[in-house]
Formats: sequence, C-alpha cells, structure tokens
Amino acid sequence: MSTADVDVVVVGAGLAGLRAAAVLHRHGLAVRVLEAADRVGGRIATDVVDGFRCDRGFQVLNSSYPALHAALAPHGLDSLAARPFEPGAAIRAGDGELHRFVNPLRRPASAPATAFDDLLGPVDKARLVAWTAKVLASPPSRTATLVAHSAAEDLDAAGIGGAVTDRFLRPFLSGVLAETALETSAAFVRLAWRSFALGTIVVPDDGMEALPRRLAAALPEGTVSLHTPVRAVRGGPVPAVDTGDGTVRARAVVVAADPRTAAALLPGIGEPRMNALTTFFHVPPQAPTATGLLHLDGTGGPVVNTMVMTAAAPGYSADGRPLVASSIVGTPGATGVDEPAVRRELARVWGVGTDDWEHLHTAQVDEALPLLPAGRPLRRDVDLGGNLFVAGDHRDTPSTQGALVSGRRAAQAVLARLGAA
Ligand SMILES: Cc1cc2nc3c(=O)[nH]c(=O)nc-3n(C[C@H](O)[C@H](O)[C@H](O)COP(=O)(O)OP(=O)(O)OC[C@H]3O[C@@H](n4cnc5c(N)ncnc54)[C@H](O)[C@@H]3O)c2cc1C
Repeated sequence: MSTADVDVVVVGAGLAGLRAAAVLHRHGLAVRVLEAADRVGGRIATDVVDGFRCDRGFQVLNSSYPALHAALAPHGLDSLAARPFEPGAAIRAGDGELHRFVNPLRRPASAPATAFDDLLGPVDKARLVAWTAKVLASPPSRTATLVAHSAAEDLDAAGIGGAVTDRFLRPFLSGVLAETALETSAAFVRLAWRSFALGTIVVPDDGMEALPRRLAAALPEGTVSLHTPVRAVRGGPVPAVDTGDGTVRARAVVVAADPRTAAALLPGIGEPRMNALTTFFHVPPQAPTATGLLHLDGTGGPVVNTMVMTAAAPGYSADGRPLVASSIVGTPGATGVDEPAVRRELARVWGVGTDDWEHLHTAQVDEALPLLPAGRPLRRDVDLGGNLFVAGDHRDTPSTQGALVSGRRAAQAVLARLGAA
C-alpha cells in the first residue's frame, strides 16, 4: 500500500475549507489545502476598483453567528475591524414615503417610532411581532428540525403572507436567499431571522475578503497552495487527489469546493440549484444618506436592497467619495434589469436624482447561493466513506455560518475517523 504524503488534503480554500484546515491543524494533523484560484476566499472576494472596495456581490456578516466567533477566536470580529450597519431597515413604500424600521431589540429607544409607523396595519404588525417572538423563543436546535415547509408556507400559516411579506419580508429575505419565491426551507429562514433580530450586521472596514484572509493567515505558512486545481479525487485506505502537478496521497481528503465542483469530484452527493445575485456599484456626487441603514424597496421593484457602504464602513472608499451597492436577484441577462434600469429604480428608492451617479462596477455572481429547499435537513452527512469527506455551505445552510459549521463538522468527522479526536 502506498503511504500518505500528508495527513489531510483539503480541496478548496473557501470558508469551509479554511475552517476545516484550522480545526485539523489545531489537533496536530499535517494539512495541505489545494486551491484552484489565485486567492483564498471562494465566493467571498473584494475587488478594488478605482480605490473603492467592491465585494463580489453584496454580502455581510452577522455578529450573532456563533461559528464566526469560534473561527475568529480569541479576538472575534475586532480582528476584522468590523463596522456595524444601523440595526433595521428603511423601506420605500408605493406612496413614495420612506418608512424606517429599527430593530427594537438593538435600539429600544426607537421602538415607539417603529411601533407607530403606518407601512403595516396594526394586525399585520402584531402578527409579525408574534411570529418573531415564536422564532426567538424556540431553541435553534429545535428550529433546525422544522424543515417540512418553505418560508412562504410558514409565513402564510402565521398570517403574515400578504402585505408584511410583499412590503418588507420578501425584499429583505430575497437579498439573503437569492430567490424571491421564498421557497427556501422555513427552518433556515427562521434561524436567519433570529440572527438578524439578535445580532448586528457588520462588514470588515477593508471589505469582506478580510474574513477568509484572516482565517488563512492563522494557518502555518505553506499550508495553502494556490493555482492548484484538483482534477480527480479517489477514496480508499490511502485516498488521493490528482492535480496538474501530480498526485497527493493523504489519510483523509476533505472536498470543500463550491457545490457544482464538489458534485463533479464526488459523484453521488448531488448538485443543488444555484441562485444568482447581481450587485451594481455607484459613486454618487453626494451620499443619499449619512446613515448606514439598509434600504429596501417595498413596492416589488427589482432592486431588493441598496446601501451606502461608506456610511457604515468608510474604508470602502480610498478618498472619502461615497459608494452605493445595490442588488437584484438573478442576472441582468435573465431578468432584463440592466444598469440603466437599476439607476432609475434607485432614484425612486433613494428619493434623489441618479442621472449623475457614476456606474463604477457590476458584480454578477451566477452561482451565489445553493437553494436549501423545504424537506431537506439543515445538516447533511459530511463523511462519505472511503476516507472521503465533504464540506461547504451546501452541506449546511447557504451562509457564512453554514460554510464555517460544515468545515468544522467535516474536520471533526476526519478526527474521529483517524482516531485523532
Ligand atoms: C453574492 C453573495 C452574497 C452572499 N451574501 C451572504 C450574506 O449576506 N450572509 C451570509 O451569511 N452568506 C452570504 N453568502 C454566502 C457565503 O458567502 C457562502 O455561503 C460561503 O462563502 C461559501 O463558502 P464555501 O467554502 O462553502 O464555498 P466557496 O466559497 O465556493 O469555496 C470553494 C472553494 O473551492 C475552490 N475550488 C473549486 N473547485 C476546486 C478544485 N477543483 N480544486 C481546488 N479548489 C477548488 C474555489 O476556488 C473556492 O475557493 C453570499 C454569497 C454570495 C456569492
């Protein structure tokens, strides 16, 4: 039998792969991470365009994600210079009025203004509060089992499927889920809602890519090999991966590639439906607001969220000019919503002229998030047998939290298999 070159090979240096490598290394195993791209981070990337930090698709961290704290211990989010958004959202209604919803759990002083806002009727508001209270009262481990229904069905059953969903929840959630039908599992949506209620949205001041870079920097030098696509994976007593530079043998292999590549390398795990998101970056002559509050369109328009990034995180601009990030679900090609259309929508949502906004950059992410449909368990097996393991947001929830948890779970399964736990 041939011998292993290393204890564990991890395929892919996205969040899941980096987290798996960190846990394995902490337990004394020799790990190699093979990454196809020229950088770590996978779907979390930040491009610098004309001095502005443009994340590859609008994405944020939630301060209440437990896996984030575990991965960044001991300094937590401070190690990323995380900058908070204002807790809540502003919603542009059909009558042109802007309604501000401040999270009462984070800003109790603003609770009365939110309670008296008239975007939603009193019955709708009471039902939303009751549903939120139910979500918060249920332990996450129990919520995670409520997988039978989609979010749309869950909200309907709670009596908040109408105006509350159309004016508030759908625009908010579709930016999180990358789908507008709310066909995602209610269990995941309830957990996400809980995170938003209890936590604060933050971004690292120099862009989201700071997170994977930080995780990679904590690994011993030389652990991650960039420009090293894995072409094939074989299980067995000494599993192996083939790269352009030859074969690497290990005692265990963790495939932490994106869902499509993972399905190609590991036939049998299935390929989830991937949903797309596109973010348009603009530089207006003046910021349409000084507050770092996420803005939503409550009229069913195509822009699901828009945000003055520099109002929350000044580091997103090199010279103090403002940066606005605005997202649609899908791609311009598939939806017919191109930059001029987005700019027109932004004039309405922000209530200002946008003709003189400079279009800086567009980040189109065709395969942004795997759909987690109703009926699927939130945690899927990571041990495939033959000393092959799989990690990635497609094995848990489609989120930063899910990717990190899957990496940790895969590492623990490897440790158990190798008797190193
Ligand atoms: C636009 C957008 C917005 C998002 N918004 C949020 C948000 O607001 N909140 C949130 O919690 N989550 C959000 N997410 C989800 C979150 O970013 C992902 O769930 C997470 O980054 C997935 O990490 P991963 O490690 O599972 O996979 P990936 O990031 O896809 O990593 C896989 C890695 O494997 C590498 N790879 C692929 N094939 C090979 C191969 N053959 N050989 C070697 N390496 C290979 C890839 O290059 C990549 O580095 C968003 C995602 C996107 C794209």
